[in-house]
Formats: sequence, structure tokens, C-alpha cells
Amino acid sequence: MNFRKFYGSHVRFARVLMTLLGAIFIFSGAAEAGAKYVFLFIGDGMGTAQRNAAELYLAGMRMENGDDSVRDSQLVMNSLPVSGEIRTNSLSGITDSAAAGTALATGRKTSNGAIAMNPASGEKFQSVAHAARRKGMKAGIVTSSFLQDATPAVFFGHSPKRTDLYALGVQLSDSGFDYFAGGGLLDGRVGKNGPRPLDAAISKGYRVVNTPEGFRSLEAKGSGRVIATHPRVSGGYMPWVIDGDDAGVTLADFVDKGIALLDGKEGFFMMVEGGKIDLACHANDAAAAVHEVIAFDRAVERAVKFLDARPDETLIVVTSDHETGGMTYSASCDVRQFYKVLSTQKGSYAAFERTISPRRDAKFDAALGAARAFFGPYIGDSKGVRSAYALSMTPKNKRKTGRPEYKKLYGPYDPFTVACIRESNAHLGITWTTFYHTGKNIPVSAIGAGASMFSGEYENTEIYHKLMAAMN
Ligand SMILES: [Zn+2]
Repeated sequence: MNFRKFYGSHVRFARVLMTLLGAIFIFSGAAEAGAKYVFLFIGDGMGTAQRNAAELYLAGMRMENGDDSVRDSQLVMNSLPVSGEIRTNSLSGITDSAAAGTALATGRKTSNGAIAMNPASGEKFQSVAHAARRKGMKAGIVTSSFLQDATPAVFFGHSPKRTDLYALGVQLSDSGFDYFAGGGLLDGRVGKNGPRPLDAAISKGYRVVNTPEGFRSLEAKGSGRVIATHPRVSGGYMPWVIDGDDAGVTLADFVDKGIALLDGKEGFFMMVEGGKIDLACHANDAAAAVHEVIAFDRAVERAVKFLDARPDETLIVVTSDHETGGMTYSASCDVRQFYKVLSTQKGSYAAFERTISPRRDAKFDAALGAARAFFGPYIGDSKGVRSAYALSMTPKNKRKTGRPEYKKLYGPYDPFTVACIRESNAHLGITWTTFYHTGKNIPVSAIGAGASMFSGEYENTEIYHKLMAAMN
């Protein structure tokens, strides 16, 4: 914590100064930014509201713990000196993670679902990670999602369909990238013969670790190419941060290890995805989202620590692929209360759905009691909550889930869970407009070698071009 405070007061000033000097350097005609250590952070589904809600939460926590002095700029990513904004539409309109990731990673627009290629012509696009490797740099991919999910996959693979998890899983080890870490490498074999992607990776010389001990024992020298999957993978994902069951291995730890393994005179490119911010926002779960954003920010902090030691050769860019949920909040409570309400939630919507909501024998009063114990006492005995509960108790095939009214209210989620989260969020003034992605512009924050190129408003494809220019 002292470290963060130290940042707040001293290093931030130094960083601003550094970036000003960097800008002068660039405007004076020197074309070379010389970024040798490049970090690209992608908070999936993370728009301005998600970032600022997390910051508000931290500010409230500090005030609640007796530190009234620091009210803002608590997120490291929000304190970076250069900021810009990207437009995110894909060739399909509102983007998905595959098309948005493709734009960021390869500088090319494509249609939704496609991984780093044009699905019509078959043309494959090369990512900035491949480009870095061609320069002799090392490459690492870190995500809290599964390793061949759309956002990581656009950096190493190509497929007309993001759902072809087998092909993408095999392509992962074909990439030769030096470090993969995060959730699981899914099997993906549906009616296909061939080795499991993980076995294919091992046969190509990857070392695979999936225990906390194995992970910690990875040495900077002599570990070779590594795939580190989280010890508590569920459905391919790292555990929810808010569920507090991470076996002591966080996204930030994966970044730290990546730095240790990739560091060398040849330089490296590392992509780090906060993959579950998007999932939380799809479910309109503000508390889960805030915890994921904070964990993502801790990972950014590790990169900034690295940068502080090598500021002239390091570039950090933090952005997102798109916003999810249409999150917005209004002034219905103060900072401290914002923290108090969100921190009373005991776990993720998924944990509630899994362990509490399906108890079909429960009476409404008991279910409401359980929901209040889980999400906080702000869930009213309202008509909305009661009718959602009645639907949750109805078998899914009898719910008319395809009707527009149903979809609008509950999306693909358990109605009672969603209704309870909505009530709890509404108490804070947090509202959501959709269970899906939006077309909002996305903030970009940057620091270090070539960072000044990332200011202004531009298409998401420019991220690739700017990274390439910075690495020159
Ligand atoms: Zn996404």
C-alpha cells in the first residue's frame, strides 16, 4: 500500500514530466520511439464507467478505512499521463471480442466472430505479437479467460470462427510464443481426432504448470517455453476475484512471472487481458466487475513498476475492445456508501446462481432472505423480484425465453439472480442498458516510449499501427 501512495505523490509527477519530454523528442523529428518492452493491456468490456466505478470503490474503501486524503486517481491505469479514445465498430456493426481483438492486434477490421483474418477471402492478418517475434523479441499472452478465447487468440491464431476452439488450441503451440498464462487451454475436440491441444503443446516442447508450487518454481533461466494455467480453472476461466478463491495466484502474478521469464536484451511484447470484466458486465453485476477491474489494475501496476526501472525502453498501453452492458451511474449515494453497498455483495452472480438460486424447493421469503444475505439488504419485496422468482422456479422450456420482453429483462441469465442484482445496483444509482456490447468509444491510457502517439481519437485499428511504430 505504501508503494501505491508513493506513486500517488512522486512517481506520477515524474511520469508526466517524462512523457512531456517524450513528446518533445517525437515532435523534434526523431522518428524512433525505441520501445523494446511493450505491454498491451486489454480490459475486455471495460469502458470509462467501469474504470471509474472501480476507482470510486477504492476511494470509498480508503475513506471507510480512515484515509480521507486520497479521493481520486486510485487506479494506476487512470493515472497514466497519455490518454486517447478509440472507436470500436467492426464490419458487422457493434463489435464482438473477436473482431475488436483483430483490430487491436492486427490493424485490420473484420466481421464479428473472425479471428485475425478475413473470413470471406481467407486472407490471414499478422498480429503485433508475431511482428515482435520477427524482430527477435519474445512474446507472452496472459488472460483471465481461457487461453484460446477470442482476445488472446487474435494474437497467435487465425480462424473464420472464434468457436473453433480445437484449431485455435493447436495454433497456440504452433505460434512458438514464449509464455502463455491464465485460464485453461480448452480441449475443444468435438468429433475431431487428434491430440488434445495441451498434449500437442507438450509434444512441441512447452512446459505446462497448473499448480501454485509449479508456477512459483518457474525460474527466469532455463524454463523454456511455458504454459501456466490457473490452479482453480472453472469452465476454462480463472476464478472470479470477488469469489475470493484464487489459490494465491492472481492476474498480477501472471504478469510478474511473464516479466521474469521474458525479460532479456532482445525485448518482449506482452498482451494481458482482463477477460472477466466483460462476463460480469454481460450479467450486469457491478460488484463482480469492479473486483475484476481492480485485479486488472494491479496487473497494470506490475508493468508500471517494471517501466519505472526502464522508462526509456518500455511502453505500456491500457485499453479495451468494447464496452459491455451500457453501464452508467448517477448521483444517488456518496463515495463511502458506494463502497459499502458494493462490498456487502458476497460473491459473483455466477456463485449465487450456482449455489443458491437453483434451490427450487425454497419458498419466496427464504429465497429473498438468501438474496439479501448475499447481495446486501437493499433488495425489496417488489413485484419485479417476485415475478423473476416465479420464473426462476419455472422450468426453462416453459418460460418463453425467446420473447423480447423476457430477453430484455433477463437475457440468458437466471431471472431471480438478475432481478436481485438489478435492485442492489439500482440502490447505488448503477443502471445497465443491455446484456450485450455497446458502441461506446473506449479510453486508451499510455505511458513510456512512444506513448504520446496514443493521444487523440482514432479507430481501434490504429492501436496496432501505433504499437508497430513505437517498436521501430
Ligand atoms: Zn470483448
